Amino acid sequence: MDQSKLLVITTTILICWVIFIIAWERISPYRKGLPFFREGFWVDLVWYTIIQSYFLKILIFDYIIAPLQHHFDWSGFQFIKNWSITEQVLFFLVTHDLYIYLFHRLQHANKTLWRTHEAHHSGKEVDFLAGSRSHALEIIINQTIEFAPIVILGANPMVIPIKALLDAMFGMFIHANVNVKLGKLKYFLNSPELHLWHHANYREVFHANFSTKFSLWDHLFGTAYDPGHKPGDNRENWGLYYDYPKDYFLQHAFSVKRFDEQKLLRYRWFNWYYNLRPRMVNWLSRKWKIFRKFNPAIETVEYKPSDNLPPEPLELSPVQENYISYDK
Ligand SMILES: [Zn+2]
Ligand SMILES: [Zn+2]
Repeated sequence: MDQSKLLVITTTILICWVIFIIAWERISPYRKGLPFFREGFWVDLVWYTIIQSYFLKILIFDYIIAPLQHHFDWSGFQFIKNWSITEQVLFFLVTHDLYIYLFHRLQHANKTLWRTHEAHHSGKEVDFLAGSRSHALEIIINQTIEFAPIVILGANPMVIPIKALLDAMFGMFIHANVNVKLGKLKYFLNSPELHLWHHANYREVFHANFSTKFSLWDHLFGTAYDPGHKPGDNRENWGLYYDYPKDYFLQHAFSVKRFDEQKLLRYRWFNWYYNLRPRMVNWLSRKWKIFRKFNPAIETVEYKPSDNLPPEPLELSPVQENYISYDK
């Protein structure tokens, strides 16, 4: 089979999978009442899923993996060359999944690495699309480590689109807002049952449920958290305990330097940029009825010196207090 035909097949499967998951979320939701156009939907779709993926794919394959492949002689390492495609896919599926488990665990344990992962946890409303929200550096590290060995070890070129399809399908599945009970299979395969807890704002899960495809790793290394009930439907039950920017670029800037958006609003350039999105949304809402239906008006925010007073101390739950060590 040639590459273009395979691409058509994988794209078709992916589109069918998206439709299936969206329907499943409507029919049997894990959290009831979660809107389809939930908070951060457009940021996740436009910035993370489309724009970031497009540019990072070029960077990773053309500017990292290709030079690596051409500047070194890897012929001595190509022990998988004669394996069948199924064996190659399984090999990379398992080895990469174990790597992801370990690196993910490290990201939760190390303050610097946490800065490359907190974006993924910032959503308060988790659904099939939420998994796409990953810091650019996190994607560069993880996908280079994922795809470089496939190229370097001389795997069949079809392994890349097949592996990418499985990644996308699994990523959507474990974040999907669906009620799913895998029975005994849950000790082997990951599902929303375990991964949605990983996105909850609770002490118990900050260092638990790191698996992506095989929950086996969490069970094997003693990091599974499966209390048999749900985290709750309130905003504070989900995401991060601290304020986090909603804008793609500010999210990346926040990983480098912590800032208070409200204080920055006194700068005209920041105010202009910060209010650009609400102005655009409101303009589109005025123009098109259909847009207004799905996107409630957003208020622009202005800097008010009186707002600068320290806020009332937040009532932190014991759960959230635990996260204080991950400083603002
Ligand atoms: Zn995590
Ligand atoms: Zn996740």
